[in-house]
Amino acid sequence: MQHIKNYIDGALVEPASKKYLENIDPSRGSVYSYIPDSDERDVEQAYTAAQSAFEAWSQTPKETRAQYLTKIAHLIERDLNKLALAESIDNGKPLKLAKMVDIPRAAANFNFYATGILHYASHAHSMEHTAINYTLRQPVGVAGCISPWNLPLYLFTWKIAPALAAGCTVVAKPSEVTPMTAYLLSELCVEAGLPKGVLNIVHGLGNKVGNAIVSHPHIPLVSFTGGTATGKHIASIAAPMFKKLSLELGGKNPNIIFADCDYEKMLHTTIHSSFQNQGQICLCGSRILVERSLYEKFKTDFVAQTKKFMVGAPQDEKTRVGAVVSKSHMEKILSYIDLAKQEGGTILCGGKRKILEGEYQEGYYIEPTIIEGLPYNCRTNQEEIFGPVVTIMPFDTEAQALSMANSTNYGLASVVWTENLSRAHRVAHSIHAGIVWVNCWLLRDLRTPFGGVKASGVGREGGFEAFDFFTEPKNICIKMG
Ligand code: NDP
Repeated sequence: MQHIKNYIDGALVEPASKKYLENIDPSRGSVYSYIPDSDERDVEQAYTAAQSAFEAWSQTPKETRAQYLTKIAHLIERDLNKLALAESIDNGKPLKLAKMVDIPRAAANFNFYATGILHYASHAHSMEHTAINYTLRQPVGVAGCISPWNLPLYLFTWKIAPALAAGCTVVAKPSEVTPMTAYLLSELCVEAGLPKGVLNIVHGLGNKVGNAIVSHPHIPLVSFTGGTATGKHIASIAAPMFKKLSLELGGKNPNIIFADCDYEKMLHTTIHSSFQNQGQICLCGSRILVERSLYEKFKTDFVAQTKKFMVGAPQDEKTRVGAVVSKSHMEKILSYIDLAKQEGGTILCGGKRKILEGEYQEGYYIEPTIIEGLPYNCRTNQEEIFGPVVTIMPFDTEAQALSMANSTNYGLASVVWTENLSRAHRVAHSIHAGIVWVNCWLLRDLRTPFGGVKASGVGREGGFEAFDFFTEPKNICIKMG
């Protein structure tokens, strides 16, 4: 069976402990490879390599840095099928989704930031005839990047690409649950001739490798995407060390449907915004609020459409809902379905584990689940479930919809369906969220600020915001005369 390796100082190496963890294929519930059980010794080696590479890399012309990133993007595009298959096996997501979304977006992240850095400029402030101020944006140093399992290569590269383009060197940790495409990326970096030490990938557990990155005294910034509880823990270590922090955390996003929406478009998109990637996208709309006059019609059609959404083996072309990422995550999702029942909810469809046949019978599948009859403020409607589970709730007025939408601790994304332009603006302005999609979902322009408010995070990724994070501004004031 394959043993994944760390990527440190330009080489693919074993962990210092020589120990490995099991890597499980969630579609079959069986071990299919092994990943390094790395620890602080590997992080130290990675840091030393990144620190030695920093001076040369940060002074490499941005055009040259961009060429390396473009080359990596091309290699990802070349290996699209191989990477998509690896992602699908590692994560349980439909192969079709990995081919259409995950891997193309990973290449796009490298392409976007390779070209973006060429256009990144800083400001000058003239004090008439007295002085001129100009701002330098200097790469901060060795960046720590930690990413989750739901969109493995997509989110891993969303951090690494801007960090490298900005001139930082990187020590990165992908999720231990889905390490495979990060490993394949390290092979591509070797092939691209990326200078050694510029990017270092250390595999292993969050409480060992992640913790060692976050608490490392000489890693001055950490970009983290993951759960809110982990983010809180990371902040408690990093904040007293005065590290720069970017935290992209959980969500409990509202999907607000007004009766005047374009019904067919709304219904089609709502199926995807509810269940794409088994509902394991931080941007999925898990609380569906529907204007009362449309509620019964929506409920009937939504349940009927959802029942047609095929749950199956990830590599089957017809599959729309694959396996959830792990046994423990499956159990967490099922426990929330139980909680919903205890809280008085009615399961309109789904609600249980699905057992497939043959080699997939031990896989972690959950039927797409729709629940109604719950108050907006119960735990099921307030806590992140992060699975193929949504609730539907009627509302009577715009004000009521907004108050329900804004009732959680989270504030990542939201969706509004209405053909009334004034209402679209009004509601969009009043929702507590970093992102509002009106009459669409997951339509992404990589130049826009990405991130959440409240317990959904601190800071923004995307566009030049990412370069602002990975660089430090320095004001230089020159007196004239
Ligand atoms: P986790 O918070 O469990 O893990 C995220 C990453 O942090 C993993 O690499 C994990 O390693 C690592 N980690 C865990 N503990 C520590 C620690 N003590 N110190 C440092 N690193 C640590 O999240 P999940 O992987 O379960 O991802 C799902 C969550 O991510 C959901 O809450 C989802 O909403 C959120 N998310 C947010 C997004 C956003 O943009 N706002 C986008 C996508 C997901 P290991 O895997 O070994 O535990």
